[in-house]
Amino acid sequence: MEFFGHFIGGEEVPSIDGTEMLDIDPYSREPWARVALGSSADAERAVAAAREAFDSGVWSGLGFAKRQAILHRMADLLMGNIDELARADTRDMGKPIGQARHDVERSAWNVRFFADHARMSAADAYPMDSGHHAYSEFGPAGVVVAISPWNFPLMLSSWKVAPALAWGNTVVLKPAEDTPVSATIWARLAADAGIPPGVFNVVHGYGPDSVGEALTHDQRVDRITFTGDSSTGKVIAGAAAANLTPVSLELGGKGANVVFDDANMANAVDWAAQAIFRNAGQICLAGSRLYVQESIYDEFVRLLTEKAEQMKIGDPQDADTDFGPLASEEHFTKVSGYFQTLDEDGGRVVTGGVGDGWVVKPTVIVDAPVEARVCREEIFGPVAVVHPFSSEQDVVAMANDSRYGLNAMIFTENVHRAHRVARKLNAGTVWVNCFFIRDLRAPFGGVKDSGVGREGGDFSREFFTEPKAVVMQINGDDEA
Ligand code: NAD
Repeated sequence: MEFFGHFIGGEEVPSIDGTEMLDIDPYSREPWARVALGSSADAERAVAAAREAFDSGVWSGLGFAKRQAILHRMADLLMGNIDELARADTRDMGKPIGQARHDVERSAWNVRFFADHARMSAADAYPMDSGHHAYSEFGPAGVVVAISPWNFPLMLSSWKVAPALAWGNTVVLKPAEDTPVSATIWARLAADAGIPPGVFNVVHGYGPDSVGEALTHDQRVDRITFTGDSSTGKVIAGAAAANLTPVSLELGGKGANVVFDDANMANAVDWAAQAIFRNAGQICLAGSRLYVQESIYDEFVRLLTEKAEQMKIGDPQDADTDFGPLASEEHFTKVSGYFQTLDEDGGRVVTGGVGDGWVVKPTVIVDAPVEARVCREEIFGPVAVVHPFSSEQDVVAMANDSRYGLNAMIFTENVHRAHRVARKLNAGTVWVNCFFIRDLRAPFGGVKDSGVGREGGDFSREFFTEPKAVVMQINGDDEA
């Protein structure tokens, strides 16, 4: 079995104490790779390398144009190695290979976008009446710790690492322990692209009492960007607060998907299915709460059920598989446990349920009271809970009645209603008649338990830089 190490100071290395973990493929349920399992000592070594590289100016001193060129080479190499990278994410978490390839494409695009965005960004100037002129500068923040989850291993890591590097920071990435491999492959490629040693480091390991905790408590760190569970986000915010380290948190969701009776039905059903069954529902943005207007409710449930039953469940490495296993045994146990809650809380499975291996089939649940756990908690699996609603006012209240506020969807052909409802929904992103489409310049993040801060375009610049005001006197003594 191939070994994947940490990547620290420009070299792929084993853990200081030599500890390894076996990486499990959730489809075969067998180990497929060996990976370095780090401890706080490895985390410290990675932060030291990133700190030294930042302080030397080897990266920030290159300037925007040279960094842009290197980052584009890195993106070329990601695309040139799409087969290996996609296969790694598929074997690590069971994502169908077509979706994993799409994730690599989006990762390369993240790298290109932020490389260009940083180079093209203008700073602000503030002409003053007093004979002074003020302007802003956006210098790199320093050492960035990026901690990512397992559901989009490469893609969500690139969303953090790309802007951090483009703005001249150095990075320590800790991928999720269940999906470590693509990060090591990426770090190898980054070195080939010309990223100097110590600028992009990867350290593998667990969160609590381990690598994650050590990274978030380290005083040499200038920024922490985290994507993951809301409860982990709260722990990390506490660690960051102790050092006053700025933190960006992209956390859980329980997306409301609102389908009005004037919606284009085929489009709404297609997107509703995508929004909850893609990646086996392991998407923070999943449309897990479906609100459908009464007059079309029965027809909508019938069509969504049909879509769910048409999905091809199978080996995620086969190109024609739509739907694979959940990412790990632990996650399978959690998601399948929700079926037991229906007896106590109420709710009826129209289609779906537990499949072979670690599969939970595309599932549609109806008749669940709004207080049921399946309606309130983030299941993070392919489970849609459908509710009827009568009026616009009622559905806005239902959609906003959640501890989460990451995203929502609206399906309607009435443009006035679309704008009106989008404004009233308490969420970081609202999609109208679509889902998952992103413009990387737009803010991305959540409200309430879905996160703190926004990333994307200038919002990433705000986070990954230290904006500085420079005020100059421009009236000289020699003025007539
Ligand atoms: P998780 O919080 O369990 O783990 C995420 C990462 O944090 C892993 O790398 C883990 O090792 C690390 N970690 C855990 N405890 C830590 C600690 N005490 N200190 C430092 N690091 C620690 O989340 P997960 O199960 O990997 O991912 C699923 C969650 O992520 C879901 O809630 C999902 O909604 C959320 N998510 C959010 C977004 C978003 O953009 N808002 C995107 C994807 C996933």
